[in-house]
Amino acid sequence: MAQISEQQVLEALSGVVDEEKNQDIVSLGMVSGLQVKQGHVAFALQVEPERGPRLEPLRKKAEQTVHALPGVLTATVVLTAERQAAAEPKPAPHAHDHGHGHGHQDEPLLPQVRAIVAVASGKGGVGKSTTAVNLALALAVRGLKVGVLDADIYGPSIPRMLGIKGQPTSSDGRSINPMRNHGVECMSIGFLVEEEMPIIWRGPMVMSALEQMMKDVRWSPLDIMVVDMPPGTGDAQLTMAQRVPLIGAVIVSTPQDIALADARKGLNMFRKVNVPVLGIVENMSYFACPHCGERTDIFSHGGARAEAELLGVDCLGEVPLDIVIRETSDGGNPIVVSDPASPHAKAYLDIADKVWVKVEAELAERERAAPRILVQ
Ligand code: ADP
Repeated sequence: MAQISEQQVLEALSGVVDEEKNQDIVSLGMVSGLQVKQGHVAFALQVEPERGPRLEPLRKKAEQTVHALPGVLTATVVLTAERQAAAEPKPAPHAHDHGHGHGHQDEPLLPQVRAIVAVASGKGGVGKSTTAVNLALALAVRGLKVGVLDADIYGPSIPRMLGIKGQPTSSDGRSINPMRNHGVECMSIGFLVEEEMPIIWRGPMVMSALEQMMKDVRWSPLDIMVVDMPPGTGDAQLTMAQRVPLIGAVIVSTPQDIALADARKGLNMFRKVNVPVLGIVENMSYFACPHCGERTDIFSHGGARAEAELLGVDCLGEVPLDIVIRETSDGGNPIVVSDPASPHAKAYLDIADKVWVKVEAELAERERAAPRILVQ
C-alpha cells in the first residue's frame, strides 16, 4: 500500500474551506498536531471556543477528505480551542514528577497514554493473556507505541509471554522503569505482589499495586496500553475496570463458553461501569491440524459471531486452536513476532486493526462530547 505523507494530507486539507472565514483551514493555520503513522492520520482543528459548537460539519468534512485519500486507513480529527491566559499546568508526564506520593486524587491517571484497552474474559484459561500479548504486538507492528499492563493477579504471565526476564529496575528509588521486549513496554502485577500470597484478592494490596503500575511506572508516551485483566466478572474485576481509565474492552471467549453466557457476563460488567465493549474475540475457534493444516470445528465454531450479533457487539475475529500459538506465546516469542506472515499472525493483525479503528472512534467521540482544550 502506498504510504501517505504529511504533505499529501496538508495538500488535501488545503481544499477544505472554513465557510465563515472564506479561506481554507491550512492557510488559516487551524491544522495542528498532525500525525501520520502507517496510514493512520490524526490531527486537531484549532478553533475559537465560541465557534466550537458550530464547526462539527467542518470537522467532519476534514475527516472525510483525509479518509478518502489513497493509503489512509483511519482519519481522526478533533476540534480544540486554545485556552486563554489562566492556563492550567500540563499534567506531569511521569509519576515520579508528581513529587509527593499519592495524594493527588484528581490528577488524571496515565496522561501520557492516549487510550487504554482492557482484555477480559468471563473465566480463566480461554486464552485471554495470549490474545492480549498478540494484540499488543500486532498494534506495535502497525507502528503504534504500545504498553502492556499485566493486571491478571491470578496468573501474571505477560512477561513470560513477551520473553522478559528478570525484575524491573528503578533509576531513582521511587519510580519503576517499565520492562521492554519485542518493541513494547510492559509491567506486571506479578512483580509487585507475591504470587504465593493466599487470597491476595481481598487485599487493598492489589488495588494499590494496580495504582502503582499506573502512577509509579515511567511509561513512555503511548498510543495504546493493553491491560490483561484478571479473568472473571466479580467485584474485584469490577473495581479494577472502574479504577483504570479504560477507553474500551475486548472480551475473549471460546466458542463453547459463549454459549454458556460467560461472555455475556463480561459484557454486562463493562456496561455497568460505562466502558464500551469494542467486541469479542473467539479464541480456540477451530482446530488447525499442525500436520495437514486441515481445519476441524471441534466446538460449534462461529458461535461468537452469532452471539455477538445477538448482544449487539462486534466479533473482532476468530483465532484457531493451534499448538504453534501455544508454543510461541508460552516460549516468549508470540506468533505475531515469530511468524508474522502466518495466517494466525494475520488473524491477530486484523483484530488489532479493528480494535484501533474502534479506539480512534471512541477517542474522537470523547473529544466531541467534551472538547479537550489544548494548552499551548
Ligand atoms: P488466560 O489468560 O485466559 O488464562 P492464556 O492466554 O494463559 O489464558 O492461555 C492458556 C493456555 O492456552 C496457554 O498455555 C496458551 O498458550 C494456550 N492458548 C491460548 N490460546 C491458544 C490458541 N489459540 N491455540 C493454542 N493454545 C492456546
